[in-house]
Amino acid sequence: MLASLALLALATGAPAVSAPITNITYDVSFTRETAARRSLEVGMRFDVSGSGDVLLSLPTWTPGAYEVTNFARWVSEFSAVAGGQALRWDKVDYDTWRIRTGGARQVSVRFMVYADSLDNAMAWSREDFAFFNGTNLFPYPEGRSLEFPATVRIRTESEWLVATGMHRRPDGSYGERSYHDLVDMPFFVGRFDLDSATVNGLTVRLATYPAGTLAGAARSAFWDQYRPLFAPQVRVFGETPYDSYTTLMVFPKDFGGGSALEHQNSHLGIYTPEGIGQEWVASVTAHEMFHAFNVKRLRPAEMVPYRYDVSQPTVWLWVSEGITDYYADLTMVRAGVIDSAGFLATTGGKIAQVNQSPAVALEDASLSTWIHPTDGTGYLYYPKGSLAGFLLDIIIRDASDNRQSLDAVMRETYGGTFKKGKGFGAAEWWGAVRRAAGGRSFDGFNDRYIDGREPFPYDTVLPLAGLRLVTDSMRSARLGINTSTDSTGTRVMAVAPDGAAGAAGVQAGDILLALGDIAITGEPSFQQFRATYGDKDGASLPIRVRRGDQELTLTGTVRLVVLTQQRLVLDPDASAKAQRIRNGIFTGSTGN
Ligand SMILES: [Zn+2]
Repeated sequence: MLASLALLALATGAPAVSAPITNITYDVSFTRETAARRSLEVGMRFDVSGSGDVLLSLPTWTPGAYEVTNFARWVSEFSAVAGGQALRWDKVDYDTWRIRTGGARQVSVRFMVYADSLDNAMAWSREDFAFFNGTNLFPYPEGRSLEFPATVRIRTESEWLVATGMHRRPDGSYGERSYHDLVDMPFFVGRFDLDSATVNGLTVRLATYPAGTLAGAARSAFWDQYRPLFAPQVRVFGETPYDSYTTLMVFPKDFGGGSALEHQNSHLGIYTPEGIGQEWVASVTAHEMFHAFNVKRLRPAEMVPYRYDVSQPTVWLWVSEGITDYYADLTMVRAGVIDSAGFLATTGGKIAQVNQSPAVALEDASLSTWIHPTDGTGYLYYPKGSLAGFLLDIIIRDASDNRQSLDAVMRETYGGTFKKGKGFGAAEWWGAVRRAAGGRSFDGFNDRYIDGREPFPYDTVLPLAGLRLVTDSMRSARLGINTSTDSTGTRVMAVAPDGAAGAAGVQAGDILLALGDIAITGEPSFQQFRATYGDKDGASLPIRVRRGDQELTLTGTVRLVVLTQQRLVLDPDASAKAQRIRNGIFTGSTGN
């Protein structure tokens, strides 16, 4: 990633302000010809008032993808004309073009954007397909209000399709009322599969690339998961915030993993084709859909309004991302896509993930994401924030005899901030939590578990919802080292003196080459080691390392270590109240 502190700290000196521009149209061309260049061609036309220079900037980031990217990097062949005459231009900073209009009233700008980033916040193309985000392509007038309407026209091959959440007009163009909306509605252009359905009176679309990949029975099966996700989310907030919803999915060949980026009435996901038919793809879908409420509308005050020229760090991503992830799990179980056992397995997995990671305060993890920390705490605000939401839900339901829930907190905060045109902070969030819990204070909870790094109080809170953690133990071959794999190999970072590797003489700094016959090429090699030696306690184990410019073979012994793992289960001794709370979480109900 490109993020650097120096870039984050830009923006000093007098703010530059563009001459006012109006009547803005963006023309985006994606044809076989531009596809052959892996590029999109962008035209921008506008009227100018005043005699000053026009300053056009491209965003530094795409909201939701919390990193500085600088989309101006991918621009080439910039030009500006008025009345058939080329206009002089230069740059005032690395993402701002200054156009000397010479008094011209109508100006056209053209440039190419290289679309080669397989990243849901960016632009990517193939010979028959492109996706892009408005942040990558649509310049805005520097220093001016972003509340301007604009038109978007897409020029493409006649047999190719366009899919977007943006509103289509009768003349085939697209348009929105503000720049915030324009850059929050990504596009698919080209050859892909597109269908739609009416869900609760709402038009819901599904666009997937490559054509034929999510097809036939697999597509029907996905629709069967996708369709029921809407109702449980609408029930939390008491309203449907969009007039249509569009899911855009890319399944690139040879792509591993999956991620998606939320928008106000759509999301764009990139997934391994192996994800087709898997529950986790539906879960990511539920997560992104919930974001249409939580973060696209209900949003931390630090990001209201969005700014596109600087980063906007906040301590609240544990709510915006973590609690969204809790609601992805709740949506899945309330929609019947998973059962309660699936919910417990997912939640137990989050508990294990947090337990195995360095302790980090949720506020600190939220703030730090912009620099993508490398210490293992980078994205912990997802699982740990999700668990914080789970615990708050239980505490609120217990304090209110299951009459209130975290749903009430979400609804109240949404109504009290987003609906009033502002963002939320501690007063609104904790005020709503306190009211839902009958006036109880959460200062201690915040100090210990949100601003602090104390382990979560599972043992006292989970039984209130008829749940508990049970500990399983198993024996596993372990070396007693921490390693890190980079371009130089798999390096030993720390050695436990009483572990198998420490006893054999392995030292921190050694590059691990082989364990017995297993060549070490990263984490999968250790899985192979554990599978191979899991029943060979005391067997001899040659350990080959490189230390400086020497290669050594150390004589070691396999050691099986007792490991414990926690599982979340239903408490057979749950009280009637705890059972009601547990059911309330699974179904979204409150009361008795
Ligand atoms: Zn998210």
